[in-house]
Amino acid sequence: LVRLRQRLAGSQGGLGRGLLALLSRDRLDEDTWEDIEDTLITADVGVGPTQELVEKLRTRLRVEGSSAADARTVLREELLALVDPSMDRELHLDGPEDGPAVVLVVGVNGAGKTTSVGKIARVLVADGKSVVMGAADTFRAAATEQLTTWGERVGVEVVSGPEGSDPASVAFESVRAGVERGADVVLVDTAGRLQNKAGLMDELGKVKRVIEKQMPVREVLLVLDATTGQNGMVQARVFREVVDVTGIVLTKLDGSAKGGIVVAVQRELGVPVKLVGLGEGADDLAPFDPEAFVDALLG
Ligand code: GDP
Repeated sequence: LVRLRQRLAGSQGGLGRGLLALLSRDRLDEDTWEDIEDTLITADVGVGPTQELVEKLRTRLRVEGSSAADARTVLREELLALVDPSMDRELHLDGPEDGPAVVLVVGVNGAGKTTSVGKIARVLVADGKSVVMGAADTFRAAATEQLTTWGERVGVEVVSGPEGSDPASVAFESVRAGVERGADVVLVDTAGRLQNKAGLMDELGKVKRVIEKQMPVREVLLVLDATTGQNGMVQARVFREVVDVTGIVLTKLDGSAKGGIVVAVQRELGVPVKLVGLGEGADDLAPFDPEAFVDALLG
């Protein structure tokens, strides 16, 4: 957590510090409020949440005073409210008594799906859980290779099929392997071709249906690249229409100065950010902690 705070502080500090600088101007006039709005929108907070936040800040600072200390306190509280600390950010991995918890990992190519699956496996293994990974992204041979490498690295079995084989059948086989081995968790990596929504819907729908012939799907994690901004939001919407997303993995937060995407995506999907990716390494994954995040924003 300390590391998360430090890592985030490096990349995210700009937003909070910028807002604090604006809020500590002598006069909070209309121009200043517009600058504050621009700062929030540039940081990908989204128009709705930005207006809401500005309205709250205006009201509260009028009533509670606008010294630098007041501004910091009020801003911290309101940013935290925006990130919504009450959301349930646990990964729910209690499988049925007789089988593993199945986690489906979805998202467009390049978002960081395979890497995130590998990192999650590592955390689970460190936690004493037995894991099987399914390489159901059968369209890119590289995806299977990449997951296999992760499997070797973290000591987890990877179930795969030949390139071009049916993703649903690989998903089915990986869950079956998980059941046979008495695994605690099966992580299923999927393909993320978004050229065609109907095709994606068919494919992910089938993967899920086929898995559920054996085991319920406990979590559907949508992996989003924090650096893609509004583009990422468009993707998020499409996936929400296709599968019931239960949590978001926001990757590449280390490479983005725009932490506001956390707020925008949670609002848009009504689903919590559960994990954040902070780099390409095996340990660069952390549970999302709203307090640490807001503190990092404020620098
Ligand atoms: P996939 O196509 O969605 O499976 O994406 P990959 O897992 O192959 O990741 C795409 C690229 O993003 C790779 O070069 C990863 O190393 C990189 N990547 C993934 N997660 C993160 C992250 O949290 N931070 C950074 N900086 N890079 C990441």
